[in-house]
Amino acid sequence: NTFAEIDLGDLLNQNIRRCKYVRPTPIQRHAIPIALAGRDLMACAQTGSGKTAAFCFPIISGIMREQYVQRPRVARTVYPLALILSPTRELSCQIQDEAKKFSYQTGVKVVVAYGGAPINQQLRELERGVDILVATPGRLVDLLERARLSLQMIRYLALDEADRMLDMGFEPQIRKIVEQMDMPNRGVRQTMLFSATFPREIQRLASDFLSNYIFLAV
Ligand code: AMP
Repeated sequence: NTFAEIDLGDLLNQNIRRCKYVRPTPIQRHAIPIALAGRDLMACAQTGSGKTAAFCFPIISGIMREQYVQRPRVARTVYPLALILSPTRELSCQIQDEAKKFSYQTGVKVVVAYGGAPINQQLRELERGVDILVATPGRLVDLLERARLSLQMIRYLALDEADRMLDMGFEPQIRKIVEQMDMPNRGVRQTMLFSATFPREIQRLASDFLSNYIFLAV
């Protein structure tokens, strides 16, 4: 049971080795093949389980295959292909850090945006282009109102620590964000929801955002 046995591509496998990951953690062993097969996923995962890599590897691998997908050419508008929502600045930065290591030399560009920091610098960074956007929900709603940022091309959506995001009151923002990618993308988007607990509100999110999903508890 090694990463080399999972079909992630040579470049990503090199980066995984560079990170000194040898064996996939249980969540990675089960979630990655499901995600690579294109299925939606709701996974029970605690901090420290290796969930970041579990959603980042399939996203990066997918984008590397699709990077040259034609994106609309609307003046100065950026079209990320993947969105990772997370509850806090700390977690978002951690995810971006890891995602950058995993995507080293792949040409996949990762940008982070979080609240509680000046928005202008994040706007400028975004407008230079982004493949994977890692964001907190509140700041992303602000950015969508101000930046030439479109979620119409989002192919991969990951919700990390979904229960915490709901505890923090982010459900309206999350719904607003997902609505913006829904219409043109139904059936194209792959969604992965990670949560430590599964109260009724999380189940409702899953049934609203995921289609024909696999539930994973490790
Ligand atoms: P996470 O649960 O994603 O926050 O990951 C917890 C920690 O485990 C992070 O420091 C990761 O870099 C590390 N990690 C994740 N997957 C592996 C793996 N397969 N082998 C070794 N370390 C890992």
